[in-house]
Amino acid sequence: MAEKKKYDLIIIGSGPGGYVAAVRAAQLGLQTVCIEKEPRLGGVCLNKGCIPSKALLDSSEYYHLARYHFADHGINIGMPEIDVAAMMERKDKVVYELTANVRKLLEGNKIEIIRGTACLAGNNTVEVAADDSKPMSITADNILLATGSEPFEVPGLECDGKRIITSTEALSLDSVPEHLGIVGGGYIGLELGSVWLRLGSKVTVIEMMPKIAATLDGQIRRTFERILRKQGFEFRTDTKVASAKVNGENVETVLESKDGSETMSFDRLLVAVGRRPLTRELGLENAGIKTDPRTGHILVDESNCTNIPGIYAIGDLTPGPMLAHKASAEGIAAVECMAGHHGEVNYDAIPSVVYTWPEVASVGLTEEQVKSQGVPYCIGTFPFSGAGRARCMGETDGFVKIISHGKTDRILGVHIIGPRAADMIAECVLAIEFGASSEDIARTIHGHPTFSEALQEAAMSVRQCSIYAS
Ligand code: FAD
Ligand code: NAD
Repeated sequence: MAEKKKYDLIIIGSGPGGYVAAVRAAQLGLQTVCIEKEPRLGGVCLNKGCIPSKALLDSSEYYHLARYHFADHGINIGMPEIDVAAMMERKDKVVYELTANVRKLLEGNKIEIIRGTACLAGNNTVEVAADDSKPMSITADNILLATGSEPFEVPGLECDGKRIITSTEALSLDSVPEHLGIVGGGYIGLELGSVWLRLGSKVTVIEMMPKIAATLDGQIRRTFERILRKQGFEFRTDTKVASAKVNGENVETVLESKDGSETMSFDRLLVAVGRRPLTRELGLENAGIKTDPRTGHILVDESNCTNIPGIYAIGDLTPGPMLAHKASAEGIAAVECMAGHHGEVNYDAIPSVVYTWPEVASVGLTEEQVKSQGVPYCIGTFPFSGAGRARCMGETDGFVKIISHGKTDRILGVHIIGPRAADMIAECVLAIEFGASSEDIARTIHGHPTFSEALQEAAMSVRQCSIYAS
């Protein structure tokens, strides 16, 4: 006979959506349980996404600096050596510590954690199957679905986890590939491509669209592609992978483009063509929850409630960008709505960052979007080569671009390619959140010498009064 327990809130999934929602729910006095099928908490973000990828991006960037740029600063260390095992061990330690912290955080907030695979068994009941205990049936007034996403598969390109791999394996390789092929020129392809390129791999990105990183503002994107090519990335755009076959230590890969078909040989092939909502084991049909038949996303209203009252969904499961901070923001808002508060997410002010070097960070509308919506607009740009701090650091590639409304000057979008863009974008998100104008940023005093002076100068140049623009 299955055990039965009752809570105020059941959260399925402990990623940045689920665990953040759990803490907020506990703060609001809801008796909460979080169910996670993996041994470690933190979801894709902490275990095989944001955190391990950034740990490797940082390590590989240090290697790159030591190898190519220390001498510019008068530091001569000879040829640095890479110890891939040590790099991976460090990355694993960072992941382990952060996931352990999530457990402490939940326990500290008196949130019950259940290890097992959860499945909806009705409108307020969840069944949990675990390897090491008997099945459990639990009920609650509210259920929050936060099971995230999984990689898309490409027919003819079956991942074997050794030679044909997903991002998960690309984060744990035991040696530097000689020639890494990457299918997909999006976030994962460009970030993980950067890691292995810096460590010495030849990297070829195969992208079916005419451009890599197609969602970026066009002007930023063109500069980005030029810089990445200069770093050594090879791009095959407008090209599809028809098939890939492992042959000993190589992956024989057939590419198809308008010029015909060609076979390339890689020692590893990373498939990174996007992700889809992970709803397979969730039993959505048992509760009658509606999904988008095209994308598989769970459909929700502005409070993140599904078509079934009391069942909410957040994060990668729902439409919108698949980003950790979007999942967390939705988790907080959903729980606040359940508790009778006014939680909401401002989808116009969600930053996105590609953590290559230079970094690319954006918020709001691109110039192409503003144009297609027929909104009158002004633009201000400023290159990092004009910022003293960027010159001190020797990082002068890139620029800031501000798009503001042609009549009201309200900021519509900010796009930055350059050093520390990921951190600089926070000020721009706040500006959009507060409905600021470009003049507000222009008249805000920025510390000197900082990278964010380039942002102030770009804001000044919207009204043609940049001090340093030539
Ligand atoms: P997830 O983090 O996917 O968590 C879902 C959890 O639910 C998982 O732990 C899973 O095991 C569990 N689960 C699933 N099904 C069940 C079930 N039936 N029962 C119990 N538990 C279940 N985003 C950023 O914002 N910045 C980045 O730098 C970034 N880098 C990334 C790098 C990579 C390589 C990848 C793959 C993704 C990256 N992302 C990044 C995206 C980010 O990881 C996701 O947007 C985010 O993790 C989504 O959070 P979530 O809570 O919706 O789901
Ligand atoms: P993505 O959507 O960023 O990029 C996928 C790319 O693959 C696109 O350019 C697409 O045109 C291309 N593509 C699709 N099918 C193809 C095919 N058959 N052949 C060749 N190219 C093909 O997806 P991703 O890079 O897999 O990342 C998944 C998600 O994870 C992202 O959408 C993002 O939300 C998240 N992520 C975020 C970060 C970050 O915030 N820094 C980092 C990594 C991942």
